[in-house]
Amino acid sequence: MAEWQTQRRQLIETALAMNASGVNQGTSGNLSVRAGTGFLITPSGVPYGELSPEDLPWMDLDGQWQGPLKPSSEWRFHRDLYRHRPDAGAVLHAHPVHAGALACLQRDLPAFHYMVAVAGGKNIRCTPYATFGTEELSRLALRGMEGRKACLLGHHGLLCLERDLPSVLALAVEVEHLCRMYLLCLQQGEPEILPDEEMARVLEKFRHYGARAQGEGKGENP
Ligand code: 13P
Ligand code: ZN
Repeated sequence: MAEWQTQRRQLIETALAMNASGVNQGTSGNLSVRAGTGFLITPSGVPYGELSPEDLPWMDLDGQWQGPLKPSSEWRFHRDLYRHRPDAGAVLHAHPVHAGALACLQRDLPAFHYMVAVAGGKNIRCTPYATFGTEELSRLALRGMEGRKACLLGHHGLLCLERDLPSVLALAVEVEHLCRMYLLCLQQGEPEILPDEEMARVLEKFRHYGARAQGEGKGENP
């Protein structure tokens, strides 16, 4: 009996939802979730609709894996994020149209809209290009993710991490939405970029945003 049945089922459901949401298509992209001392990850090149929970490879943080199917070719950046980012409970990589277009233009997503702070900083970086599946791509990805929960991979796509699978998909959808809006703005010219002080204010507000429901219903209005 394969371990982590709940995570296995949730990983497949989220991979299917990722494609249904439009942020990814076909067997592009990959998804993983922390499980025990390692993580479960989608296999390489297999349509998500054909996966059963026991098909999912499990990998430890040294890159040793077990399972009937080969792990995603991008296991290195998944493994390296779980190694270096304690805040990573789930990692998503996708090839969305708008985030991908910006990545092909090799452009960061600047603070043209305050929601850019959703990824944890004043911008969402785009990394230089490196061949898919390489150590070099993983090195660049980790750097692009410093202080962030998302980055664009140059001439490739989108990378996100979050505490769990529903949150990482929500973040990917949000970033793709922002990239779409930014590309629309660029058709009219360069939008003004919010100043660093304003983004610092937004980031501070985000630390408490949405948390009230978990509180005791007391305190000052924000
Ligand atoms: P895998 O099918 O090996 O996960 O590869 C898809 C991909 O997006 C490579 O960057
Ligand atoms: Zn890819």
